[in-house]
Amino acid sequence: MNNRRNFIKTAAVASVAVALQSFTGKPKEESINDLTKKINKPIVLSTWNFGLQANEAAWEILKNKGRALDAVEAGVKIPEGDPKERSVGYGGRPDRDGHVTLDACIMDEQANIGAVACLENIKHPISVARAVMEKTPHVMLVGEGALQFAVAQGFKEENLLTEESEKEWKEWLKTSQYKPIANIENHDTIGMIALDADGNLSGACTTSGMAFKMRGRLGDSPIIGAGLFVDNEIGAATATGHGEEVIRISGCHLVVELMRQGKSPQKACEEAVSRIIKLTKNRNKDLKDIQVGFIALNKKGEYGSYCIQGGFNYAVYDDTGNRLIDANYFLK
Ligand code: ASP
Repeated sequence: MNNRRNFIKTAAVASVAVALQSFTGKPKEESINDLTKKINKPIVLSTWNFGLQANEAAWEILKNKGRALDAVEAGVKIPEGDPKERSVGYGGRPDRDGHVTLDACIMDEQANIGAVACLENIKHPISVARAVMEKTPHVMLVGEGALQFAVAQGFKEENLLTEESEKEWKEWLKTSQYKPIANIENHDTIGMIALDADGNLSGACTTSGMAFKMRGRLGDSPIIGAGLFVDNEIGAATATGHGEEVIRISGCHLVVELMRQGKSPQKACEEAVSRIIKLTKNRNKDLKDIQVGFIALNKKGEYGSYCIQGGFNYAVYDDTGNRLIDANYFLK
């Protein structure tokens, strides 16, 4: 949490200061079937406070009629490259063996997809994911193979474990207890979804995953359909939180399919969260230990979000400015 506050203080910066308002009100949630309304585009949404600055980079592209795909890549690269953001990219927290392993995926308006998982030593996994999408016959590369491909593509290898993350990991080793507690922020992901001036949707999602995870563990973030999904006819969604729970329901694909059935982005996120809640109860697990948040955007530029516990927020940038919204949640 401190992390984020510091981020806001130090990086919230002139450029976003004007726009940095926190709204707790209900986001727009009209039905996609209401065709009389003007399309709200361009627009970009991203998870957590660091989304504010990421949105700024994305907006630079969107406001100049650039492509949503370029916007989401440029946007998520901001926290990826920031060592103060300890849950994404450079400076991300390591696994329990001290390796920083990164997961990312990207999806465009034509259902082109690319992903990397368990990628080490490369600061911008999202750009490697995009290269997988554009330059290989595959959609996902993992581990050593992903690194080999990245290096062959000219990405620079560098140590991503910063002093702070290493210190924290060494502290953790004293107990070695893996207990990712909801809203004790030893994890977080930037997921970003955008609708461009041409009315096309794209999304990107990138993370260092759960801190002190087992070596080789993947969450939802690099998995198309789980941590991110885009359907250019309908809408887009991305997720953050306990990836295991998002994968269990194919979360973001579900959110988009619910919008296809006519649900607003808000209602679609609520329904997806309610599935997780039901399964958690059926499996006799404690809901208090779980946090999952979804954000969603439809073809009309309407958006919404929902999560299990309070504390999740997301940033929205459209022609009315850039702002942070506290997501509504289930456990009151
Ligand atoms: N969803 C990510 C994962 O499970 C972590 C997060 O967003 O908090 O790896």
